[in-house]
Amino acid sequence: MADYIHTPSPTASPALQAMLTHSGFPLTESRSQSPISRVNSPIDMDGLSWPSRFPVLTVGPFFSPETLPLFFGRWHDQATSDAIPTLTPTHSTPGLGTKARRDETKAEAEERIRKMSGAVRTLLECMGEDPDREGLLKTPERYAKALMFFSKGYEENIRDVLNGAIFEEDHDEMVIVKNVEVFSLCEHHMVPFTGKIHIAYIPNRKVVGLSKLARIAEMFGRRLQVQERLTKQIAMALMEILKPQGVAVVMEASHLCMVMRGVQKPSASTMTSYMLGVFRNNPKTREEFLSLIRN
Ligand SMILES: [Zn+2]
Repeated sequence: MADYIHTPSPTASPALQAMLTHSGFPLTESRSQSPISRVNSPIDMDGLSWPSRFPVLTVGPFFSPETLPLFFGRWHDQATSDAIPTLTPTHSTPGLGTKARRDETKAEAEERIRKMSGAVRTLLECMGEDPDREGLLKTPERYAKALMFFSKGYEENIRDVLNGAIFEEDHDEMVIVKNVEVFSLCEHHMVPFTGKIHIAYIPNRKVVGLSKLARIAEMFGRRLQVQERLTKQIAMALMEILKPQGVAVVMEASHLCMVMRGVQKPSASTMTSYMLGVFRNNPKTREEFLSLIRN
């Protein structure tokens, strides 16, 4: 079990408190309303569209720094209405650099790898290595390609990942997918953090193909991340796609930047959680979820 609890986000901490009730920690009666609000819209929009700060594909005369808040307000109304969700191109659309990556030609892709390999060669030299020795000859290119794989989530978006796998279903009990393994890169050190994610939701007439939950986690995980944001993005995406009664996401991960360097605590793990809807508002529902993932 975790011996290190990392709670930099004030929104994460009540959920962690909830997790810790059995350890004698205080539990607040009920949590505040959903954080999806106009006031906090930039981070919430980023929650779906990170790393883009703006909805790139729809940029036009309609959007300017002045009109963006209006747009976010409108988006908010749509997102919280009962209407069937429509996945516009803005959802999880990558930023300009990642858009260029997604749309590039084969020649441009080769040029990208060549450029990255040069940078890796420089890294090797700076480490005091000889990039021309036999064992390292192909390392720059290998590492460049590995980095592209570790960050392939930038080339994906929710709409393609879902591929229409949302179904009308008269099911209103908790759906949980436990132990989804996730491999991500910490954006502060570009070294891996890996762990398990538990995802739950309570449907509101709509269910999503179960494998898609893991695919969504994978998509957000294969980007430069911080664990708090990864956890939140998965929850926010599901909330918007399904408009369920609630969503809960808990992640427990080990960060190499902490394990291999810095405090060097090999057994330390970091837990984050993000809860929306009934999981946020109803302690009993939250408790049921937490006890189900505990076993
Ligand atoms: Zn780090």
